[in-house]
Amino acid sequence: MRPLADAQKDVLDSVPLLPVVEVPLGEALGLALSRPVLAPHDVPPFTNSAMDGYAVQGADVRWAPVTLRLLEDVPAGHVARARVVPGASIKIMTGAPMPEGADTVVKVEDTEPLPDAVRILAATQPGTAVRPAGGDLVAGESVFNVGERLTPRHIAVLASLGVAPLVRRRPRVAVLSTGDEVLEPDTETLGPGQIRDTNRPLLMGLLERLGAEVCDLGIVGDDARALREALALGASEADMVLTSGGVSKGEYDLVKAILGEIGTVDFWQVAMQPAKPFAFGHIDGTPLLGLPGNPVSVMVAYEQFARPALLHMMGCNSVFRPMTGAIAAEGWRTHPGKTVFTRVVTEVRDGVTHVRSSGAQMSNVLSSLARADAFAVIPVGTGNVEVGDEVTIELYRSPEARSASEVLGE
Ligand code: AMP
Ligand code: MG
Repeated sequence: MRPLADAQKDVLDSVPLLPVVEVPLGEALGLALSRPVLAPHDVPPFTNSAMDGYAVQGADVRWAPVTLRLLEDVPAGHVARARVVPGASIKIMTGAPMPEGADTVVKVEDTEPLPDAVRILAATQPGTAVRPAGGDLVAGESVFNVGERLTPRHIAVLASLGVAPLVRRRPRVAVLSTGDEVLEPDTETLGPGQIRDTNRPLLMGLLERLGAEVCDLGIVGDDARALREALALGASEADMVLTSGGVSKGEYDLVKAILGEIGTVDFWQVAMQPAKPFAFGHIDGTPLLGLPGNPVSVMVAYEQFARPALLHMMGCNSVFRPMTGAIAAEGWRTHPGKTVFTRVVTEVRDGVTHVRSSGAQMSNVLSSLARADAFAVIPVGTGNVEVGDEVTIELYRSPEARSASEVLGE
């Protein structure tokens, strides 16, 4: 059995980088930069007003009240033509360029309009409510580095710069469920021994969240020829193939055998729980991750191998989820020889996160997975977790967001 960290390193080291493309900003969300972004111009591009109010010379408004002549009323999107001189003012809107000669804005609440003039009611410090050109970014400044993944916040910055980013393209992932007993999720009546496919919907949702394109290969029975064809098709169409089932030691566990036949198998057992049986290999250079059949194992193996591998292929410089510390609110048994992933719910008390089991921990139990906020990641060498122990968690959802089902970081 390979230690988890070694297996993760093997996977990351052996997956290819996706090609670089220039994409319109509207299609860049979730992709990673393959060229650093430098500011082509100052942001804001011009010195402007932080308030709706009157642009004046600071020396005129040190004391109030005072009445100043009104030279112009500049609507949004327009530029003042007049120059502000001593004793004069120009009415402007938030974000409008500062008129020439003005160095201060008196906010509208501190004024009273008069015919062709304004009365300043509050003394105002020179320089008040002025936002300098380049106050956010200066032309030529380094804004984002290679490998940064574009969030909506990054997209907003790129929009302010008018930059179409160079990124690595969206990965295409083929998804396949295996097993004679597995039927489509919308099957109304199940025969004896049959179950509905939960792994494909789970993986397809996770992949969609990640920003990958899914190539759905459906369900293939435990039939060597059909599996061989499906895996070959997936490898030729997609950047990665994800299968579930058929990688344990049973007679019908064909995925690993076929991978060895038409490609290469790099390893197939990892010291982790759940998701110990796991096949990894390549078919014609396309990585194939043979995930276990049990749904919770699928989630754990996806999170520990497929997601980091895809982010790595996309050129992201950070591929693992952030880990954080928590206190065990109850004890539970673990397996000292394996990295154990325990489904937990979190509760924040006095600023400290406490965790307890979200329910039954067998690898077929999906309800406790859906209820969980996080996995507690218990390292090899830990016997039992005791009440009050500090544990490391990988957070999927913040406790406050539980009702809204908001998922972090995906
Ligand atoms: P296997 O490794 O193929 O024997 O699968 C392990 C367990 O996971 C068995 O109980 C399978 O019935 C179950 N399983 C396999 N594939 C799926 C699937 N797509 N959806 C739900 N359960 C599955
Ligand atoms: Mg099977």
